[in-house]
This record gives sequence, structure tokens and C-alpha cells, in this order.
Amino acid sequence: MTFATLGLIEPLLRALETLGYQTPTPVQAQAIPAVLAGRDLMAAAQTGTGKTAGFALPLLQLLTMEGPKVAANSARALILCPTRELAEQVHASVAEYAQHLPLTTYAVYGGVSINPQMMKLRKGVDILVATPGRLIDLFRQNALKLNQLQTLVLDEADRMLDLGFSEELANIYRMLPKKRQTLLFSATFSDDIRLLAGQMLNDPLSIEVSPRNVAANTVKQWVVPVDKKRKPELFVHLMRKGRWKQVLVFAKTRNGVDALVDKLQGLGINADGIHGDKPQATRQRALDRFKASEVQILVATDVAARGLDIEDLPLVVNFDLPIVAEDYIHRIGRTGRAGNTGEAISLVCADEVNMLSAIEMLTRQTLTRKMEPDFEPEHRVPDTDASGQVVKKPKKPKKPKASGGGGKRNLGKWVDSGEVAPAEPSIKPVRKVPVFNTGPRKKK
Ligand code: AMP
Repeated sequence: MTFATLGLIEPLLRALETLGYQTPTPVQAQAIPAVLAGRDLMAAAQTGTGKTAGFALPLLQLLTMEGPKVAANSARALILCPTRELAEQVHASVAEYAQHLPLTTYAVYGGVSINPQMMKLRKGVDILVATPGRLIDLFRQNALKLNQLQTLVLDEADRMLDLGFSEELANIYRMLPKKRQTLLFSATFSDDIRLLAGQMLNDPLSIEVSPRNVAANTVKQWVVPVDKKRKPELFVHLMRKGRWKQVLVFAKTRNGVDALVDKLQGLGINADGIHGDKPQATRQRALDRFKASEVQILVATDVAARGLDIEDLPLVVNFDLPIVAEDYIHRIGRTGRAGNTGEAISLVCADEVNMLSAIEMLTRQTLTRKMEPDFEPEHRVPDTDASGQVVKKPKKPKKPKASGGGGKRNLGKWVDSGEVAPAEPSIKPVRKVPVFNTGPRKKK
């Protein structure tokens, strides 16, 4: 199968040739004809499958062939993305695919001044890539009208809900024309996503290009059990031992990112960090430098790193496991993209056993554990498997310490260094379910 047989027009084929895309990926093979035929789409496509081209190519073709010229302060197609970086990345891909077409494209997101965006929108743009919050701001300030909108794309829809954008999505839904084409892409499909799809899509075609909730099988994954306090030391040890060249590291919190970056920089290691507290320009610069291999180690929180496409990234390290198991799939999806192989290593301490178990259950696999000599944990990480069971070692009966007869006895508190620290209960993410009422909009 070729892109030409999927019915794409010559200017798009020319752009694809320049980019070196020879054969459509499975998601592209399914999505392109369906979108060209005007269908709504509900696509479960894991990251790195080529889904951006899957929706962007037919969308560009439809906009070229059909519909009126874009009016002032309008957009003909809207692509919603959960993060600023993803919006930039999607926009860059769309612009590349559109290089021989007479269409205008633009990306808007928060964290930067709104005025240049308002100016740019004056003439209207054919394809607007946006994060939800900034889109609503622009709409409320009358910089953008959506009555000309032909197509809406929700990219990484699951992440938008995880990031708490359900209210924004409900607001945007009310701003859209009823007659439109809607394409929903999500790496994972929870009940909330299905509910959203039920409200937003019209008789959608379902596409599933990989088994649901399974990470790309081109990524070799394993776990290194370690005590929490020794994680930084283990990271540096593994880095030196494995001569890691370019690594994307995920930490749970902003403070965690900063602490690890400080530690690495203190050791003279070329590291930088991105998280939601940093200004957009700083985040983008760190990312660009990482992509250009000017930064060796990029430490990030999930918010900052979602959906990023870094060419040939060989290794992802989970310094901390994610609280939401599905994020594990997104994180390790940064490597092993477009058919390349990659590795994903998770440093796991006893506190994280329930998160490990949730990941194994979701991905239907028991992750291999590799003990690193000299880093064997004092607090054992209990055995886990894909059934979701955490197998705790039976407690050994212990003799009470001799108390010398009198005084207070600490009855029942046996100290056992081999015993597992009580694991944190797995934190179930609270996801707000969007409520799409068709009534009048609430005044804020
Ligand atoms: P995505 O899943 O959209 O983020 O795409 C992942 C990577 O695959 C990007 O670097 C794309 O440029 C690349 N890609 C997408 N489609 C193809 C294709 N048909 N052939 C080769 N590379 C592709």
C-alpha cells in the first residue's frame, strides 16, 4: 500500500516524499480513507504510531478541496492538544505536511502573550492548533469565531481529561457548530473517554491499531528495585555503567525534577529539567536543546513531557513510577517510536509496589526485575504480577527483645529489617467527567 493508493493529492505526496515517509503506518492506512470520506473517528492509537499524519493529511486535503475561504478571526479546523509542547509539535508536523498547499496554520497556547496571537488570528487561519484554556480566552475576547469550523480533532483526549480539562472541553463543545467532523485520538480508552466520545462524535468509525493499553513491543522494559533514598545514586551509577548518551527521565513532582537536576548538574552532568512551574520559553528551550543533543539528560514531569516526539530517543528512565498507570504507557512511548527499538528502565522502591502492580495489570505483563549489585534494597519490593496481586512475604515470627523485666514493653511492634514498608495505597486519579449541557452558558 502507498499513500497514493489511499487517495492523497499530489502536493501532499510530494511533502511526504521530502519527509521520507514511504508506506502508511497502520493507523494512517485506516484513518486516511475514513476521514476523506467525511466520517467521524474514534481512534485508539498509541503514541509513535504516526497518528498525527493519520488525521492531518486527510484534514489538509479536505480543507484544500472543500469549503469556503477562511474568514477573518476564524478557523476552519481546530486541533486541540493537552500541552503547549504537544501543540507546537503537532503544528510543526501539520506545517510540514502542508508545505505545498495554499493553507495557513497556526498554534496558540498559554504561558505566552496573547496579543500576537490575537493579531495573527485577525486574517483567520485554516488550521488552528490550540490548548483548551488559551482557545477559550481567545474566543471570549472575540479574537476567534468558530462558526466556520469544519473539523475538530481531539488529540490525546485521555490526557486532556487527566489534566483536568473536562470543564474547558465542555465549554468548547458549546462554542462549536453542530454540523462538523470530529476526530478523537486517545492512546488509552477509559470509561470517561467513551462518554466524551458518545457526546462529541456522530456515528464514529472505531480504529484500534494496537492491542489496547499495551506499550509498543519495540520497547524493552525492566525494573530495578532500590530503596527510595538511593535512587539518585543508582541513577548516576547506571548512567555511568551503561554510558547513557541521551535519556529522558520522568520524576513524579516538580520538586523531584529540580532536586535530580541539581544533583546531576552538581556532578558536572549535562542535565536540564522541564515542569509546569517553569516559563514556557524555558521549557521549550530545554526541550529544543535536548532534541539537538545539547542536553544529555532531560528530567520531566508527566505534564511537561506528554506526546513529545524525539527522534531516535534510545532510553526512558522512570525515576519515579507514575501515579496513573496509563502514564507509564505514554512515558515509555517516547522511545521505540516509528519502528525503532528503545529501552525503558524503572527505578522502583517498596512504596511504589501498588503502582507497579497497576502498571503490570494494565499492560498485561510482569515486568522483569534486575537487581543491581550493591543497590539491593533494604525494603524489599514485594512480588507483583499481571494479575494485580501483590505478594507480601509472610511475616516471620520474632522473639520479643529481652526487656530486662520491668519498664514499658513495646508489645506487638517487632522490628524486621527484611519487612516491607507498608505500601502507599494506590492513588486512584479523580477524573472529572465532562457534562455537556446544551442550556445557556453560565456567566463566570
Ligand atoms: P506520531 O505518532 O504522529 O507522533 O509520529 C511518530 C513519528 O513517526 C514522527 O516522527 C513522524 O514523523 C513519523 N512518521 C509518521 N508516519 C510515518 C510514515 N508513514 N513513515 C515514516 N515515518 C512516519
